[in-house]
Amino acid sequence: MHPKLGKTLYFGLQGLRGIHIRSYLSWLESTQWLSTDELRQLQWRRLRRTIQHAYHHVPYYRAKWNALKLHPDQIRTPEDFQHLPLLTKQDVRNHTQELRADDARGRTFYRFTSGSTGVPLGIEHDANSRAAMWAAKYRGHRWHGIDVGEKTALVRGAPGKPAALRIKRLQDALMNVLRLFPHEISPQSVTAFYRQLAHWHPRQLEGYPAALHQMAKLLQELELDGRALGCQLVVTGGEAPHDFQRTCLQEVFGCRVADEYGCAEVGILAFECPAGRRHIPVENVYIETQPGLQGATELVFTGLVNQAMPFIRYQLGDLGILETEPCPCGRVAPTVTKLQGKNVGLVRTMAGRWIHDIVIRDLIYQIEHRQMGVEQIRFIQEPDASMAVDIVRETSFRAETVVYLEQAAPATPWRVPAGAHALCGADPTTRFRKVLLLYFETPRVDSGV
Ligand SMILES: [Zn+2]
Repeated sequence: MHPKLGKTLYFGLQGLRGIHIRSYLSWLESTQWLSTDELRQLQWRRLRRTIQHAYHHVPYYRAKWNALKLHPDQIRTPEDFQHLPLLTKQDVRNHTQELRADDARGRTFYRFTSGSTGVPLGIEHDANSRAAMWAAKYRGHRWHGIDVGEKTALVRGAPGKPAALRIKRLQDALMNVLRLFPHEISPQSVTAFYRQLAHWHPRQLEGYPAALHQMAKLLQELELDGRALGCQLVVTGGEAPHDFQRTCLQEVFGCRVADEYGCAEVGILAFECPAGRRHIPVENVYIETQPGLQGATELVFTGLVNQAMPFIRYQLGDLGILETEPCPCGRVAPTVTKLQGKNVGLVRTMAGRWIHDIVIRDLIYQIEHRQMGVEQIRFIQEPDASMAVDIVRETSFRAETVVYLEQAAPATPWRVPAGAHALCGADPTTRFRKVLLLYFETPRVDSGV
């Protein structure tokens, strides 16, 4: 589809859902050139509005702040704001209902994020919040000369159930997207994707850095020329890219790499500009820091748009440093440096190698997709680096789940130790039952040298 037509259709269809991306994007295009003071004032006005609304309409915040004898009228400076309590993932999990505003009007939208207990967190967004998230993303792409609707090769997401996959394919077609799902990466799939792209010439390539890196390495091994695809930009997101991944992507695809930093709860938290700095979209989010581990500072976020389920002083667990120095690109919005993303997503194997946790996330997805009767599943690494798999069964639990986990190889690097099945059904007193103990790679044999 012609990019301009795709863009018009896309904006129109999103508008029908109440998500007005076009107008939000043009507002963001103008605010990015405001002065430091003007941006600060704009952000502070939105922050005050957010806490007033939260106090009057979100039961969780009202109860918490009342207990501390804090009222939004007392919050007059950023220092005052720091008196409000922090919000953790655990708080969100325990108080999801009370975090919803009682005045949420119109349609709301859910986004899911993984939780460490194996239960995904459902985050509710209003339409304006969805528009703000998309607009901040597209503004970032436009900094690099890529407009909404231009040809994009995407290596991210999960196919979901058949109906969801059909909708995704339709959206992809509308938005000029060709997609490779990260769990499908293999020499065969990468070769086929490459052939498609070589014919199609995407303007940009976007995805999880680990998945893109894996794809780039395969292209090198297969002696396929990534530069021949003609990409102008690689956008990494979902996790902070390592320097070696970034270098490899630049080399293989012969273009610049820009990192998009965000989360499901608040949306885009920073986007890398052409001068290589990650600017915070201060129109949408307020970021402060507090002392973290080992002298690093932890980033604390407050979303300024979503009124359906506001996140105020939210601790995501990411480390980074806020900078306010002017950027050569001319934008004055503060930047985040030395970013250390959440749960780096790597698992140390018994042989001492690191494996991306997408392997586990994909397994969880597959088990859900195949409806194997698992209510919850969790992977817990034991002190010897083996991995225990615990599940909560539903009545429809299928015994082949265990076999499926075992046979997930060769896509997964683990081996199942002898006697693993003896663990099945152990300890009937707990809700979680250990079903399997996985060895990620064979333990290294100590040669005694
Ligand atoms: Zn900049």
